[in-house]
Formats: sequence, C-alpha cells, structure tokens
Amino acid sequence: MLKALKFGGTSMADAKQYQKIRDIVRSDPSRRVVVVSAAGKRFSDDNKITDLLYLCYAHIQYGVSYDSIFGLIQERYTQIRDELGLKTDLESEFAALRQKMDNGISREELVSRGEYFSALLMAEYLGFEFIDATKWLFFRYDGTVDQEKSYPALRALVKDRGVVIPGFYGLMPDGKIRTLTRGGSDITGALAAAALDADVYENWTDVSGILMADPRIVDNPKTIERATYSELRQLSYSGAQVLHEMTVFPVREKNIPLNIRNTNDPDHPGTLVSEEFQELPNAPRFITGIAGKKDFSIVTISKKGMAGAVGTLRAIVEVFEDNTVPICYTPTGIDVISLVVPTEKLTPHLYSLTGDLRTKVRPDSIKVTDNIAIVAAVGRKMAFRAGTSGKIFAALGQQGINIRMISQGPDELNILVGVDEKDYAATIRVLYDAFVK
Ligand code: ASP
Repeated sequence: MLKALKFGGTSMADAKQYQKIRDIVRSDPSRRVVVVSAAGKRFSDDNKITDLLYLCYAHIQYGVSYDSIFGLIQERYTQIRDELGLKTDLESEFAALRQKMDNGISREELVSRGEYFSALLMAEYLGFEFIDATKWLFFRYDGTVDQEKSYPALRALVKDRGVVIPGFYGLMPDGKIRTLTRGGSDITGALAAAALDADVYENWTDVSGILMADPRIVDNPKTIERATYSELRQLSYSGAQVLHEMTVFPVREKNIPLNIRNTNDPDHPGTLVSEEFQELPNAPRFITGIAGKKDFSIVTISKKGMAGAVGTLRAIVEVFEDNTVPICYTPTGIDVISLVVPTEKLTPHLYSLTGDLRTKVRPDSIKVTDNIAIVAAVGRKMAFRAGTSGKIFAALGQQGINIRMISQGPDELNILVGVDEKDYAATIRVLYDAFVK
C-alpha cells in the first residue's frame, strides 16, 4: 500500500503546521511520498512566500533593493527551522540564492525556491529523503510534462523509501527550471501519485473536502463524501471551487482515487473522488452537489423550418467559432435554438456576431438576453431516476423563481437551470433545501 500526499501552503505555513503534518504522516506507514507547497498564509493578512518571491523578481527587474522582502522570506523559514530544532543549513542556501539573484536568476527559478526550502525542512523533520523536482519532473520544450520520462525517473529514485518532493516546478530539456501554473503543487502531487501507482492521492488542504454548495450562499453546507471524476468535472465547470482539471488528469488516467483532506481536522474523512463507486443501496441523497455561475448571455435564434432543415446548426456554430465566442450550453426547441455563452466573451464581438448570423443563417429573429446565471444540480444517481427534474421545477416554482432555460446533460449527470442573476442565490438555496437538507 502506498499513499502519496500533497500539503498546500496553509498546511506548510509555520512550525505548528509542520507538527500536524508529521502526526498525519506517522499515523500511517503507507504515507511515504510527501509533496509540499511553499509556506502560505498563517492568517488572512499574511503573505504567501511564492507571492514574495514574485515581488523580489519584480524588484530585481526594476533595479530596486529586494533586501526587505528577501528578509521576510529568510525569516519565515529560519523561524520554522529553529522552532522545530532542525539543522538544515539555510544560511548557505540563502547566500547561494542571493548570489544567483545578483547575477541574473530566471523568474521561474526564483519563484520555485519556496517549495524547495519547504521540502528541505520537511524532509529533515520527517526523517525522509529529499528528492528535488529537477531530478524527475521533466518538461518538453512545449511546456507539457513528459510523463514517459518523468515517471520511471521518480520510480527509480523513490524505491521503497519515505521521500519529500517540492511541488510546483521541474526541469526543461535545456536544464532550466520551469514552474507549473499557480497552485501547481497539486499537479506535482498527482504526477507523483501516478508515477508511483499510488493506491490513493491525498490532497491535504485547509477545508474538509468539497462542499455540496457555496458556503457564502448556503449556511454550513454538507461535505460531499464521494464523487466520481465526472461529477467533479461537472461541478468545477459549473462554478464550484474545486481542484483544477489538470490536477486530476494524471491520477484519473491511472484510476487512482483522490482524497481531499483537512490538515487542521485530520480525522475528517474529507471527499473521496474516484472513477466509479459501488453504490450503497438506498443511499440518502441523489444530488452530489450544486454549483453555479453568473454572467452568462443567451443568444436565441428563431427561424421557421429550422428544425427540419439541414445545415442550419452548422452555420450557426460556425459563426460563433469565427467570432471566437465559446458556446457553453445549447438548449433547443422547435425552430428555435439558444446558445448560452459567457457575457464577457460575447460583448466584444456582439455586433459582428449578430451581423454574421443575419447574413449566414437568415433567421426570423435574434434575441440576446444578458444577466443570466446558470445553476447546475450534479449527481450520478440522478440517471434513470424519475422525479428529479420535477422536484427541481416544483421547488423553484413554489418560491416564485422564473426559469429562463432548462437543460439536462445527455448522460443524466446534471440538470441545469438558467435564471435571472437576481435569483441566483435563491435558486441555489432552494435546490439545496429541496435535495440535501
Ligand atoms: N506555491 C505555488 C503558488 O502559490 C504553488 C502551490 O502552492 O501549489 O502558486
């Protein structure tokens, strides 16, 4: 059994957090591969080390002294080391880094150092081996991760040992350091889990898993205990703040379950995401989560005879493509189609797009409605089950919420409703109360 763990910035913020991590790792001998972020915020107004490093780089560029910012970074890591009684020679590390900074360091190398220092300290603290990300996480020239080269390299380095790996960066073919996108340590953790065929990828953060609805709208929403990767995709596409798509890709590809956990509440089981589940009979809820987003526009195109005509749909879609307006959803009626698009993508092209539609599609009418919110109820258990949509529409109707658009995914994994933005929060609350409470 092997568990790969990733600890985010708030889990790495100070010595107390390091202690929690050590307890978590020591409580289970299969927790042998630990990927870490740079130190994050200890309190809401605090600085993230990675942000400070970006700021240092900006100072270098403008030829302004970076001493005071660099001092903050040094101080944070030195404090963690001293409070934990560790011996890592940070002084030499910082001196070497300063020298590089004065001689022209790349931005990516500089901002990767937060993860590097975190991993050095955590490796000593856990008594695990430090494996630098440059020794195994290899990029191709186009910036994509070369899994064929990286995976065997990590396997050869880890063997059966306990290891700590810095997240967020790797090596380019020309030997230069390259970083992933912000928040990229999640991706490093997933890649490490996939490389080592881990039994589970535990992503440790400061929340106890994914919530069933936005806590700013619903009071104390319940945690999603289990979700499939498809549901996770639907929820994040629909607006839920969950892990980035790129994060789950390497583990999903290998069918490795992902467990989102809370470093500050380690006994909470969090959310378990996997390709499929053995469903419990009579499971209490058949909605997994509710998510939504505002700022959509609906472009409604009517044309007599469109339903039976050949090629109209293609012509419409082509106009959207030519105008680089992405289409999110397409509910249709007889001789009428609506295309739901993000308003910010539509606005700059509105006149050109409607003009093109008029000449190329010759519709009877084109109507554009702004200020639409789309709310999605997502649940694998909705499929083949009568009554879900009825319940949704009844609940919204009872609260006097007018539904502007309805769409059900063909896989029956989600039901989407478009409402006026003023009804957005109420829609989420009504659905939560109807299905979860
Ligand atoms: N430290 C990096 C960031 O702040 C990467 C990470 O924490 O995942 O974006």
